[in-house]
Amino acid sequence: MKKMKVVEIFRTVEGEGSWVGYPVSFIRLEGCNLRCPWCDTPYSYDGKTYKEMSLEEIFLEIEKFGLKRLCITGGEPFLTEELPSLVEMFLKHGYKVLIETNGTLWNEKIKEIFNENLFIVCSPKPPTYLINENLVPFISELKYVIDDFIKIQDIYKPDILERVKNKTIILQPESNLPERVEKALQIQDELLKKGIESKIIPQCHKVLGLP
Ligand code: SF4
Repeated sequence: MKKMKVVEIFRTVEGEGSWVGYPVSFIRLEGCNLRCPWCDTPYSYDGKTYKEMSLEEIFLEIEKFGLKRLCITGGEPFLTEELPSLVEMFLKHGYKVLIETNGTLWNEKIKEIFNENLFIVCSPKPPTYLINENLVPFISELKYVIDDFIKIQDIYKPDILERVKNKTIILQPESNLPERVEKALQIQDELLKKGIESKIIPQCHKVLGLP
């Protein structure tokens, strides 16, 4: 099997979304099909900050951390063709695996290995906030960065929300800025008026000074 482009492998405390606070191993895969203005990992798609690793090499690195929660992030992990094989290997070894995706791409092979230990967190990105139709039924939670521009219409899409597995929506104030927290509170209220609960969760790893 082809080697994968891996930007970094590390252990930290999950700082975003529903897994917040758990110790987690991270694999950051190379490449992204988007260019978000506030991206905090531009090195993940600069085309030079990576090393090529086989499945076995990645597995041995992750096993060293002794954890059973793994987050596969990017960049955009669905750009890596071998993503399903990577996920399958860890699921088979009893890991809970979370894929963080911008939601624009999909790989049909994920369907074949999908089970209750695989979590797909979709964080749609501006300006379109596009979500790939094939991905929708497999999304565990939706996470929106609350910046200066996002509007309630970018989040409130009933046809999509109905099909998201546990209907969790997370509002993440950009860079933990006070004015973004204020906007997140407003959006949370607007969603509530439409009968939709959401959680405001900051980037906790940044608060804690962790990677
Ligand atoms: S999708 Fe994620 S990795 Fe890609 S540019 Fe946007 S924030 Fe950065």
